[in-house]
Amino acid sequence: MMIFRCIEEDCGCIVEGEEVPYCPQCLGEMKEILKEDMNGLDWCQLGIFLSQKEEEERAFSCFQKSAKEGEPWGICNLGWCYEIGAGTEVDEKQAVWLYEQSAGLGYFPAYCNLGWCYEHGIGVKEDMERAVFCYQISAEDQFARGQRLLANCYAYGNGVEQNEEMAFLLMRDSSDNGDLDALYYLGTFYWNGIGVEVDYEKAVEIFHEVVEQAEDKDALFYLGYAYGNGTGALKNDERSFAYYKRSALAGELTSKNNLADDYYLGRGTKKDMEQALFWYRSSAEDGNDDACCTLGRLYQEGIGVKKDEVLSANYYEKACKSNTENQGLECYLRMAYCYYKGIGVKQNEKKAEEVLMDGFSKTKSCEKLTKDILVRRNNNVAEGTIGILVEQLITYCRNDEITKKLKDLKKYFS
Ligand SMILES: [Zn+2]
Repeated sequence: MMIFRCIEEDCGCIVEGEEVPYCPQCLGEMKEILKEDMNGLDWCQLGIFLSQKEEEERAFSCFQKSAKEGEPWGICNLGWCYEIGAGTEVDEKQAVWLYEQSAGLGYFPAYCNLGWCYEHGIGVKEDMERAVFCYQISAEDQFARGQRLLANCYAYGNGVEQNEEMAFLLMRDSSDNGDLDALYYLGTFYWNGIGVEVDYEKAVEIFHEVVEQAEDKDALFYLGYAYGNGTGALKNDERSFAYYKRSALAGELTSKNNLADDYYLGRGTKKDMEQALFWYRSSAEDGNDDACCTLGRLYQEGIGVKKDEVLSANYYEKACKSNTENQGLECYLRMAYCYYKGIGVKQNEKKAEEVLMDGFSKTKSCEKLTKDILVRRNNNVAEGTIGILVEQLITYCRNDEITKKLKDLKKYFS
């Protein structure tokens, strides 16, 4: 195997092979180079070529040679190998030390890696302010990943005072500099109005751009949602189904649940109970409370499966404990009902009230809960059954505070 280097000075790409007629990066002319003539930069380039071919151990040894020559880029890449254990054992302290050396030699992307270590406590004590400081240095050098990480710090006030406008500008710069993750986040900023007016159409346009370049499960989810609900796009159940399917196959848990709903209801596709159950179970395994809740109901009522009240109660319990970011109230209502009636669990009124209390306290206001449950109801296979459930719970409940909350909730279902 021979080694070739691109003759263009500002490229310097290195490729290993039998015959390499032109540079894969700039299409420039390639010339053979001997190992003894390779400098630190050349070894680093060869390391990158090898790591792209997933020859991690050989890449690691190239970065070692490059680092020995004092090449800051090679030192940084060697640190990366130690951080993630590519071609060597993981050694986080060594990674941090190498990033520091590389940064000290003026290689700005190393600051970004160093910041990541401070943000996540990798090889150093977690220190968000230090992380932000490091991201700032790499962002000032127009390093796209540093700009994106710094943007997220500003967006959520993480280690720095929250500043959504700043977050938006940095994210846009990062995406302009070619960071695909930043493009996705930019879409979510338009969708959620972070540092910019809410603009669903623009968000959808961006998510389309993202999924043209990569099978991004989150961008695919947004597209599924957009077409399913007619948000930022013309409502189209078939397209929604297709995007949810791609997102689910890429492992997104809410998409798995929504895809299951589509199969269950025959929305955007043919009804298929077997597929519905497969995706509900897959989503439930990932901890999605909606999927757990639906499975609980199917087992409770024996829809598409053999009736099993104990299993049903187990699913409701799992949903209540899921603690996901947007956890819904429905599972608490159903679990409480099981306790009042002794379905799959021993009848226990006190427990029922505890469960309801727990559900109401997980979000701050009842208004948010009702909005949340309404959004879910529109998208949910349980449409029409939650209102009846709430009414029944009101008749069972003997705690005034909870009864009041249930009555507030009922208004939304009449
Ligand atoms: Zn080249």
